[in-house]
Amino acid sequence: MSEEPMKLKFLGKIKITGDMIVVTGMHIGASKETVKIGGIDSPVVRDPLTDLPYIPGSSLKGKLRSLSEKALEKDLVRISSKPDINVHVCTDKHCEICRLFGSSKKDEDTKDQKNIPSRLIVRDMLLSNDKELLNIDTGLPYTEWKFENSIDRISSAANPRQIERVPAGARFEFELVYDAEEEAELEEDITRIQMALKLLEQDALGGHGSRGYGKVKFENIRYTGYPKKYYISGDESLILENKSEEEIISVEDIISSFTGEKNA
Ligand SMILES: [Zn+2]
Repeated sequence: MSEEPMKLKFLGKIKITGDMIVVTGMHIGASKETVKIGGIDSPVVRDPLTDLPYIPGSSLKGKLRSLSEKALEKDLVRISSKPDINVHVCTDKHCEICRLFGSSKKDEDTKDQKNIPSRLIVRDMLLSNDKELLNIDTGLPYTEWKFENSIDRISSAANPRQIERVPAGARFEFELVYDAEEEAELEEDITRIQMALKLLEQDALGGHGSRGYGKVKFENIRYTGYPKKYYISGDESLILENKSEEEIISVEDIISSFTGEKNA
């Protein structure tokens, strides 16, 4: 079997930015190691330097991926039984999920590990509110806490837990960076990202979504195009961005600019 020579393609990058508003209290849990002693049962993840709650990019990316897998009815494999986690991974580098979110899997025929690099980077999201607005009188910086009862189904004993939440009204800046590699897949990839954001608005981010936690809304979504020529020449006038109220650069403008200038 002859090895296909690897050829990297790069058309440029598209940055997608905007605000994510927390509509109902959101809980993205911190790992046990980072929990302060004497704290609440189930705290939220915080930036260790500022102590402000933040949203790890991996939490948003994982959610966008799982919602997309479901919507596109992809085959899932179990990667963990406790907790039960099923994800889609494959070795097809044109798979609409794996090319966007990345994949790492052993090829069933050759037993080689195949990695499909993710075209999408999801940055950590930082709180952008006026901090005072969120300083609710709970003794916890910028968050609220809520008691949730889980009932033991056998003994009927209640097991109340304090769950810390980022309150409704919190606003986070989000930033996604998409690597444009294949002209033929560019428009579909962008449509898939938009689909995932819309699906998330009808779903929940973080824990306890079925109890009403974690409804979010995206606002002020903007697209900025950085064509390959910009990186090579350093010429900032090549950046495709909204320069004024009148001159609106749409994502369609960026896509057609990326796909039309291949040989320019
Ligand atoms: Zn796949």
